Amino acid sequence: MKKDFRVPFLICSIAITGVILFQIFWIRNYYQITRDRFGREVNLAFEDAVKRESGLRNDSLEQSMFTFLSDTTQINIKSEKNKEGKTVYYISNVKNSLDSYSFSKDGLDFQLSSNSDNNRSKVIRAAAQTYRIDFLDRHIIRYFTQNQGKYISEKANSFRIDTARLRTLFRLELKKRDIIQSFVFNFNKEDTLSLNSWDSLAKKYTVITNAFPTYEHKKELNYISAMFTSPKGYQFSKTKYLLLGSLVLIIIVSISSFYLLRTISRQKKLSEIKNDFINNITHEFKTPIATVYNAIEALDDFNAIQDPVKTKRYLKISKRELERLSDLVNKVLNTSLYENAVDAFKIEKVDVDTIVKDIIQTHQPLSATVFNYHNLSNYHFVKGDKTHIYNGINNVIDNAVKYSEENPVVRIELLDEDSFLVISVKDNGIGIEKENLPFIFDKFYRVPSTRVKGYGLGLSYTKAIVEKHKGWYKVYSELGEGSTFSIAFPSTI
Ligand code: ADP
Repeated sequence: MKKDFRVPFLICSIAITGVILFQIFWIRNYYQITRDRFGREVNLAFEDAVKRESGLRNDSLEQSMFTFLSDTTQINIKSEKNKEGKTVYYISNVKNSLDSYSFSKDGLDFQLSSNSDNNRSKVIRAAAQTYRIDFLDRHIIRYFTQNQGKYISEKANSFRIDTARLRTLFRLELKKRDIIQSFVFNFNKEDTLSLNSWDSLAKKYTVITNAFPTYEHKKELNYISAMFTSPKGYQFSKTKYLLLGSLVLIIIVSISSFYLLRTISRQKKLSEIKNDFINNITHEFKTPIATVYNAIEALDDFNAIQDPVKTKRYLKISKRELERLSDLVNKVLNTSLYENAVDAFKIEKVDVDTIVKDIIQTHQPLSATVFNYHNLSNYHFVKGDKTHIYNGINNVIDNAVKYSEENPVVRIELLDEDSFLVISVKDNGIGIEKENLPFIFDKFYRVPSTRVKGYGLGLSYTKAIVEKHKGWYKVYSELGEGSTFSIAFPSTI
């Protein structure tokens, strides 16, 4: 890693690690909270279920009480107004009038003339309801009269807690609270577990609800609680989206940081390369300008204009330098224009074979390079912009000539590969080091050690043209051995 990037990389790593640690902290906290919530929710659900279950039994007991009080062979009911004018009912044992109790209720003031009074049933209904609310619902059986207490107590014993019903009710209550987890009931004679039993149970069942009283008198175990093994499933189901969200967040932050760093690094490299390019190009611009300037000055100052030989020479120099300048300007212009050139592409059927032959012909007289050209393709036409395709191929052939030193031989082949026409250019030149290979198609990039003049624009131009034509390019190179560049365009049939 480059030295400049250690600091931003370190900062990003610290930030991402921080984000991860915070997420872990919050998720752990939340996980713990869901466990507490589980405890609260199952307690509430259990209380509701127990109430509903005992409510159902109390409905039957209330009805039994009503039946019992209706029995005129067992129970006498009399009404009397007390000093405050309130109606009081005396309910007594037929066989023992001392075994009795009184009962009154706000708003209840029917006067009973005899046991067969029609209002007796209304009074009894009110008495049974009051008994239920005051005692049965609180799990108490009160002996107001001996025979009534005995009767209700026997009934209560016969309506023992129905664990099957409680189980169903409890499951429903749990479901309402999004809890689906198995449980067992535990009967205990106290409303809290003794230390010994607690130890062994707590090992297995990590969540135990409060104990609620029941009418279960058998073996004096009349408190019931529900016990759950670890609520991991519930905790996970409550935290999974949070976990997933965090994971996605962390991945997004990591990817964006990576891209950010990569973009910064690329921008930095590009700006360095651009600076180099500007330095190079201004130097290149200056030389022909200075030469032409000197030539004109010479013509002017030394009256060389009178000497046709000198004039011709100076003009020739000026023309050559201006041509070089124009060539340079064209190259720079081309580079800035080709990126948007796709709209202006003139699409036609292009004969690549002729293009390659033309390029070879322009190069041959100027260099000592030996060109070996083989057209091995069946069909050498592509669809595209002729000028751009010409320039693209020319850059590769030009480089093969430029970057060769002794006895240069350039082998050019046209091949069919799948549905592409491939132009392969092989040279025996200086080659390219592996570490530089990935960059040679970048704009303004030049292999640092190269002594050949250039601007790092040729291959980036070729790459852009190939890509705009939906083709591909590849390079194989060995330092000191030579390079093979292949560029391909979709062939038209
Ligand atoms: P330029 O030739 O103007 O420098 P290019 O974009 O054409 O720019 O090439 C980029 C770099 O790739 C060159 O600087 C050169 O070092 C290297 N290169 C390109 N073609 C070859 C080749 N055939 N042999 C060796 N090096 C090459």
